[in-house]
Amino acid sequence: MKTVILAEKPSQAKAYAEAMQKSKKQDGYFEIQDPIFHGETMITWGFGHLVSPVSPEIYKDEWKAWCLGNLPMIPERFQYEVTADKKKQFNVVAKLLKSADQIVIGTDADREGENIARSIISHANAEKKTIKRLWINSLEVAEVRKGFENLRPGEDFYTSYLEAQTRQKSDWLVGMNISRLYTVLLQEKGLDGPFSVGRVQTPTLYMIYQRQQEIENFKPEPFYEVFADIQSKNGTFQGKYKERFSTKEELQALLQKKGIIQNQPGVIQTVETKEKKQAAPVLFSLSDLQSQVNKAYKASPAETLEAVQALYEAKILTYPRTDCHHITEGEFGYLANNLASYEAHLGITIENPLLEPRKRFVDGKKVQEHYAIVPTKRVPKNDELAKLNPLQKNIYEMVLRRTVGMFAPDYIFDETTIVTDLNGLLFKTVGKVEKHNGWRCLLSNHDTKEDEETTLPIVTNGEAVTATIKPKTGETKPPAYFTEGTLITAMKNAGKSVESKEDKEILKETEGIGTEATRASILETLKAQSYMEVSKNKVVVTEKGKTLCLAIAKTQLSSPAFTAEWESYLKKIHDGSGTQEVFLRNMERFIRHLIDTARATIDSESIMQQVGKTVSANAVGQCPICGDVIRDLGKFYGCRGFKNGCKFSIPKKIAGKTLPKTAVQSLLSKKKTAKIKGFKKKDGKTFEAALMIDAENKVSFSFDKK
Ligand SMILES: [Zn+2]
Repeated sequence: MKTVILAEKPSQAKAYAEAMQKSKKQDGYFEIQDPIFHGETMITWGFGHLVSPVSPEIYKDEWKAWCLGNLPMIPERFQYEVTADKKKQFNVVAKLLKSADQIVIGTDADREGENIARSIISHANAEKKTIKRLWINSLEVAEVRKGFENLRPGEDFYTSYLEAQTRQKSDWLVGMNISRLYTVLLQEKGLDGPFSVGRVQTPTLYMIYQRQQEIENFKPEPFYEVFADIQSKNGTFQGKYKERFSTKEELQALLQKKGIIQNQPGVIQTVETKEKKQAAPVLFSLSDLQSQVNKAYKASPAETLEAVQALYEAKILTYPRTDCHHITEGEFGYLANNLASYEAHLGITIENPLLEPRKRFVDGKKVQEHYAIVPTKRVPKNDELAKLNPLQKNIYEMVLRRTVGMFAPDYIFDETTIVTDLNGLLFKTVGKVEKHNGWRCLLSNHDTKEDEETTLPIVTNGEAVTATIKPKTGETKPPAYFTEGTLITAMKNAGKSVESKEDKEILKETEGIGTEATRASILETLKAQSYMEVSKNKVVVTEKGKTLCLAIAKTQLSSPAFTAEWESYLKKIHDGSGTQEVFLRNMERFIRHLIDTARATIDSESIMQQVGKTVSANAVGQCPICGDVIRDLGKFYGCRGFKNGCKFSIPKKIAGKTLPKTAVQSLLSKKKTAKIKGFKKKDGKTFEAALMIDAENKVSFSFDKK
């Protein structure tokens, strides 16, 4: 019997091969020998997707043109192709799959992984073979071997494929049709496109835009509060009156009415102390980790995912694309055994560790596809950890701290509330006294210890005090800009910004918009389309982004509930209670409706105001040939004079290096730049050089020493 194992990418295939008794590398696959498999066995791989949906003009010649007359473009049957750079590997894979008796799908254990594998198998006409599925949570040798010994029937995962494929098809339909629709409509208004629109990216962009609008339109208002420094027998503390006033006069009037004076005598009305407990934070899901890493180290969610993926491939952490906060007793067992070495690594000792599983962390019923991100069974050696880059090291340590927290006792503190009566005005004071540090011994310097505790003097009911009154002026503050970390959380909890109760329920079911695996890449797409920028960890919508938001404001594309409803139906396809046909039919109806109504829902007046802003925001300089404006067109810088035949343009990327905007500006104003680092030769070596506009008005390297 011949078995062919299909991995998602070369590094994964290598990890599988390393877990086998013998393996030999061939061109595009490994030959392996191991008692787990009888007969000839190979491991081959994709480069992620080897097969993708074709572009519109492949269906019909006329679909090449971006015009409203062509819309909607709805293929009767979706066609797929292998892109040129992946043909060689696809041919290797296809040949192996066709010759196999049994195929083992060993791509990432998630929906997208299933789609990657099934698309390749289907395009290779190997669907009729016996198909098995490898489902593992870690790339450690023991886990990989256990996974191969316990392969699961392929058909159990077929609906994952259907769900992911439906997602892919509907993304194609929305992307191709609606991007063209808005690009054409906005071009009519004098704007350069293209304006890409997506099922998840556009509602996400609108969320950022709305927050930005709130901030920009915010008018700070002054308010007045009153504090009291209260002198008791055993010491001083500060109390606060509960009400806020909008004018100084109102506050003064109240103080006068109550006859409050300098050194006002008063009495302690109540003093209450309650013991409170706080359990350690739950284990990390991917989005939770992405938010925390962004907060502590300013890394983007995509950078974090890349680093966690590398730690997974290095067999140090478990499977990263998980939305689960729990583990099973199996993981708890080995983590407890490794506790001493984790403590040694962190330089921390947990006093009285809790070695019995607690439901907050360990609950097999809550682990469906994957468990939370935790260290793998094998404790990495110091020289292995030394090879990690700084972000990977920080993330490993963060996961370790979170995991060890599971064994630490609760943080226990006394919360004391004092109410002081000053001539009938009640002032409240809350103080906290730590009794047992518990899991908080694991907090690092990067964790914000929000409420620094105030220790209060010991006071008794009815005790006489004197107080000095201190009025204070403050100002209301606008909401904060999103960071990429808070944005990931907002996407996950998108329900909170939804008005209708029904929408909220859908969002609760679907856990917001996007999936754990895709949120980071959605933010990257928005950046790549120049819709948003991140500056000092603050997410801002660009003028181009604002234009799109204005254009779609009155449609369902501006609502998270819009995409959330779809996500919830997609889940139904996964559990078998929904079908791809129904979903695509609804999608088609939505697209047709948008095409019919988009022009009327565009608020022309505000768009026209935005046109000027966008044009000037995108302008980088003057064309050296015709003198018209050169602007940022997304993929390159082009001349507005193209309508009159000017073909001048500057690429965004030269020899592997994305040109800084300042370099493009100086090319246009001085015909040359200063030296730029980071160009790459074909052999991968980097070099530095200046750029210039040559005699033929082309951008070329200038190795001139001057
Ligand atoms: Zn020009």
